[in-house]
Order: sequence, then structure tokens, then C-alpha cells
Amino acid sequence: MSLHQLIYLSKASRALTSVDFLEILEVAKRNNASLGVTGSLFYNGGWFLQVLEGDVTVINSLYRRIEQDERHLQSQVIYLEPASCRVFSRWTMNMINLEKERDSKYDILVDVIKAATRGGLVEGLSPAVKLLKVFSSDHLFHSAC
Ligand code: FAD
Repeated sequence: MSLHQLIYLSKASRALTSVDFLEILEVAKRNNASLGVTGSLFYNGGWFLQVLEGDVTVINSLYRRIEQDERHLQSQVIYLEPASCRVFSRWTMNMINLEKERDSKYDILVDVIKAATRGGLVEGLSPAVKLLKVFSSDHLFHSAC
């Protein structure tokens, strides 16, 4: 297995309900568990940012399926790199909807998503690298790095 992390950005195609989010999360958890994929999905201001971790062939093929989903559009991969460990090893898929949750990472995650949509940097780092860095140093997520 060649462990990689893929991060993409996409725009919700319509106003999604909490039921929509639950459906996405349930199917993602179920499928990702059988594929050996871990990761996290972030949502704010109509934008998704998703991290997929797993074998490079598996995550590429999963991404090709996800990008065709009508619930989002304008999907673009902003990061695809080998990884020495999983940042989200505890989660077959985790979801953080920033429009509903305001935890300690709220400000930085909003900045990361905004920078990704504008093609800018966050504290001198690409949004994808900053995102991985934020969670790598969080003991709750940090079990395999
Ligand atoms: P199915 O059994 O075909 O579908 C399961 C249920 O999902 C359906 O009953 C339906 O309620 C709902 N559904 C499926 N497709 C659509 C659609 N186009 N529009 C509305 N409802 C639909 N899948 C993963 O496996 N892993 C992921 O990490 C993942 N992340 C996603 C992130 C986002 C932002 C989005 C929008 C989708 C994501 N998905 C993910 C879902 C993915 O796009 C496919 O819908 C799913 O993989 C299909 O799996 P299945 O064939 O097992 O599900």
C-alpha cells in the first residue's frame, strides 16, 4: 500500500439540509471502512473541503466517484501527496460543519477554506498543508502520526 492524502475543494450544488449531511456521512463511513480510507469533511459557506487518506489507487478511484456526485460541483484536487502516517486515523470519515459548530479550530478552519477558494495562503502555508498541520498536532486526531 502506498499511503497518500488527497484533499479536494468543491462547491455545494444547492442548500444542503442536515439530512443531506447525515446521508453523505453515513455512506462515506460505510464505504470508507471497507476501503481502508480515513479522513474528514469540512463545510462552510457552501464549500466542501475533504481529506481522503489511504492507498493512492483507492483514494484516486474513490475521488473519481465522489466528484461525480450531484450534491457538489467545481470539484478540484488541491493536494495529493504521499504520507508517512494518517492524520485522521480514528475516522473512516469525520464531518465538521462550521456553520453549525464553533469549536476551538473554528477561526483557522474558516481561514483555510476561504484561502482554498481564493487560491491564497494561510500563515504562509498552502491551505491543504495548514489543514493537515492543524490536525497533526491535535491529540484527539493524532493517533498514527
Ligand atoms: P448508494 O447506496 O448508491 O447511495 C447511498 C445513499 O446516498 C442513497 O440512498 C442516497 O440517499 C444517497 N445518494 C447517493 N448519491 C446521491 C446523489 N448523487 N444525490 C443525492 N443523494 C445521493 N462516498 C464515499 O464512499 N466516501 C466518501 O468519503 C464520500 N464523501 C463525499 C463527500 C461529498 C461532499 C459528497 C457530496 C459525497 C460523498 N460521498 C462519499 C458520496 C459519494 O459521492 C457517493 O454517493 C457514494 O460513494 C455512493 O456510494 P454507494 O454506491 O455505496 O451508495
